[in-house]
Amino acid sequence: MKTKFDYKGIRSEFPFLSRKVNQKPIIYLDSAASSQKPQNVIDQLVKTYSQSYSNIHRGLHTLSEEATNSYEEVRLKIARFINAYSKEEIIFTSGATMSINLIANSYGLSKLKPNDEIIITVAEHHANIIPWQMLCEKTGAKLIAVPVDKDGSFHISALKQRITKNTRIISVPHVSNVLGTVFPIKEISQIAHENKAICVVDGCQGVTHMPVDIQDLNCDFYVFSGHKLYGPSGIGVCWGRAEILADMPPFLGGGDMIDNVEIDSSTFAIPPSRFEAGTPPIAECIALGAAVDFVTKIGMKNIENHEKSVLSYGHQRLASVKGLSFVGTSPNKSGVISFTLKSAHPHDISTLIDQDGVAIRAGHHCAQPLMKFLNLNSTARASVAIYTEPEDFDALAISLEKVNRIFGA
Ligand code: PMP
Repeated sequence: MKTKFDYKGIRSEFPFLSRKVNQKPIIYLDSAASSQKPQNVIDQLVKTYSQSYSNIHRGLHTLSEEATNSYEEVRLKIARFINAYSKEEIIFTSGATMSINLIANSYGLSKLKPNDEIIITVAEHHANIIPWQMLCEKTGAKLIAVPVDKDGSFHISALKQRITKNTRIISVPHVSNVLGTVFPIKEISQIAHENKAICVVDGCQGVTHMPVDIQDLNCDFYVFSGHKLYGPSGIGVCWGRAEILADMPPFLGGGDMIDNVEIDSSTFAIPPSRFEAGTPPIAECIALGAAVDFVTKIGMKNIENHEKSVLSYGHQRLASVKGLSFVGTSPNKSGVISFTLKSAHPHDISTLIDQDGVAIRAGHHCAQPLMKFLNLNSTARASVAIYTEPEDFDALAISLEKVNRIFGA
């Protein structure tokens, strides 16, 4: 099977593909958990640490200025990448989890009152549940979850039914990390605004798979992690509208986020610095810039098309495996194929196929409420990236058939 896109050359930019696992060429189908890194990202990390490393925003010497400039260039790069209104709207965090905690603790804590309501969906990653639960405990607000269909589709009508005059925040995934469902963010944002609420988007599984234009999506916050976008771990992004950020108090206190400090009280810097307390992961941020260069050069639309075609082949190929049921079959899907096998538990599947060098994820995928909603305790999940090829799904299917034979299916 051929995809139209020439991904072979791109594969050669990923050194991990040359390694073997259990004497077999690696088949990496766990990119939704974390993606592998292209050479230019690895090179950039090494280059920063070996040539231009220093702390940022403080030093007046050459290395500090170089590191500061490179760090700030990434802010601009990210702003352009997601079409933010300005680079000051880009806050660097340690990842999506920290970004949502920042929004909950800063925006949420300063704005919400008892009986206000926060709407999420049943399909959330725990990172888009727990910070809101903690906020509800502190403020007396209520957390409400919108269901999805059994096939994983999300219906705007289900959201509309749950909106009340007390709705303040609607926080949804761009793409579910279990079901692959692509959520209609534009419509959700519009409904949020019509009801004087804000729309927060967990973009962890969105920005990696498709072009993101936050002006078009018209949301109020969009968060993601660098490590899923071919960048290093420890660095992530919280994009927020300038006018909302300007009105938010700091979440974490320390160096770099201040204006003037007295022993009794202090004043704080304007955004984004207000929300970047302490020394950030400098080299990791600069390497995230290299990751953005990497995907920009390929084109997010090309990445989306390639992955769609691989995913479609994957569905077709896995459908032939005896006893396999897909979990999440909504028409608009991206990134992942979750499934169960009649013959074996997902953990056993994952352990066994690792013998063939095939890496998938098995478990609840940090989405326990969704598992309970679906009456499952876990699934197996194969996920794709730009380096995934249709043949990876041939290898997975062959390996799963072996699992069936071992378990006597
Ligand atoms: N949301 C979704 C949809 C995710 O897939 C993940 C990572 N699995 C997260 C949030 C949390 O990301 P991180 O652990 O990088 O903060």
